[in-house]
Amino acid sequence: MNRQDFPILDQKVNGYPLVYFDNAATTQKPQVVIDALTDYYRNINSNIHRGVHYLSQKATDEFEVARRTAQAFINAPSPQEIIFTRGTTESINLIATSFGKRFLHEGDEVLISEMEHHANIVPWQIICDEKQARLRVIPFDETGTLKMDEYEKLLSDKTKIVAITYVSNTLGTINPIEEVIRIAHAHHIPVMVDGAQAMSHIPVDVQALDCDFFCFSGHKMYAPMGIGVMYGKAKWLNEMPPYQGGGEMIKTVTFERTTYNELPFKFEAGTPAVGDAIGLKTAIDYVQSIGIENIARREHELLSYATEELLKIDGVKIIGTSQNKSAIISFIINGIHHFDAGTLIDQMGVAVRTGHHCTQPVVDHFGIPGTIRASFAFYNTEAEIDQMVKAVKQAVKMLR
Ligand code: PMP
Repeated sequence: MNRQDFPILDQKVNGYPLVYFDNAATTQKPQVVIDALTDYYRNINSNIHRGVHYLSQKATDEFEVARRTAQAFINAPSPQEIIFTRGTTESINLIATSFGKRFLHEGDEVLISEMEHHANIVPWQIICDEKQARLRVIPFDETGTLKMDEYEKLLSDKTKIVAITYVSNTLGTINPIEEVIRIAHAHHIPVMVDGAQAMSHIPVDVQALDCDFFCFSGHKMYAPMGIGVMYGKAKWLNEMPPYQGGGEMIKTVTFERTTYNELPFKFEAGTPAVGDAIGLKTAIDYVQSIGIENIARREHELLSYATEELLKIDGVKIIGTSQNKSAIISFIINGIHHFDAGTLIDQMGVAVRTGHHCTQPVVDHFGIPGTIRASFAFYNTEAEIDQMVKAVKQAVKMLR
């Protein structure tokens, strides 16, 4: 599906046609996004918001169009609630630091889950350490499904925020995020959603979800690296202190006192990634022209086929078998180290990821050092899955 839009896929690796199954780490970029970047640097490049000259105004206009496109994409009520960041990691660091400074006190608790990416663990650990607050963890079961009964038990009047991933990048689990939010709100607790693995696979409506914060990265949804979004309800963002100081985020500065700019600029210190934001806008338009439902349907077909074919190989075990899964398969092979298998699979032109995938607690849960992970995008094919299966079989033969 639309494979011809992605020029990078048309190449050989180690003598084989490239099979790119590392889409959960980053997706490839369609020609329209590459063109948008080139066009920006060829025709528009200028610093924004500060200049009266033509190019500066044009760059500013396009940057703000990109913001409104991101706003519409997740149905945020206002462009003021869309903060451009470098990606999910920076978005979560911003929230943990700024929300934490304002709202966390000694003895308070932050609730995350056992399947979080390190990006949604470490920033909270840092602020909890500083504030002498406590990080608590919702466990998952042997299939990689969140234990909702345990979740409810962990909520208390000490809980100041729930920060949880929509989709696990290692297990593929799609969490029942609406329910997670509904339950937290019944206790008057705000919820931050890590949407890194959800975008372009699941339609996101932050008003319908009613989440308090939502973070995502452009590069995992066909946009350039270096751009992401932090959505936050204005009622929180107005209360939270700035994350970084510098140009753009101020109203007035004297040596005695600085007053801060309005949203969203209060959280956007310094020169932003203007070209990348325009690239993100182009990627959003591209994804919408295909349709997220169509993308999800195609990826689900690939997931089902790959699951079936991999399980036919003697000794393969899939880690993450929740009922509701995104197009991510983590697997291990009996008696073979994931790194050795991954190296051999790459030699046959197949790009899979090996290791803990920045979710060390997940692999610890299963008592394994890591997994091999194949993650699909709509441009992948069944023939590519066949090539991977062949490579896995070959690796098993050689390593056993
Ligand atoms: N959360 C999840 C669930 C992820 O999969 C990732 C990326 N692997 C991140 C956060 C961090 O995203 P980024 O590296 O783009 O900041």
